[in-house]
Amino acid sequence: MAFKDASKPSGPVTLESGLVVAVDRELCIGCGGCTAIASNTFGLDDQGKSTILMSADMDASTVIKSAVSGCPVGAISVN
Ligand code: SF4
Repeated sequence: MAFKDASKPSGPVTLESGLVVAVDRELCIGCGGCTAIASNTFGLDDQGKSTILMSADMDASTVIKSAVSGCPVGAISVN
């Protein structure tokens, strides 16, 4: 799995769009919802926590924001 920023797989990471995406690993329950909605942006690591992928710039901001809205525990933030 290729992370956008290998030094902090769950972010915060700044995308080309200017969005800053971060996953709170303490809150993430590994449901996979974000990976289903924005599959270029999010992927579960070997600990079952959501991370931000190298391919994140391939998803539209609206898609990423949909994933944020869909997270059942509010673990993803975008700024
Ligand atoms: S939708 Fe939320 S809880 Fe589910 S894997 Fe993504 S960040 Fe984790």
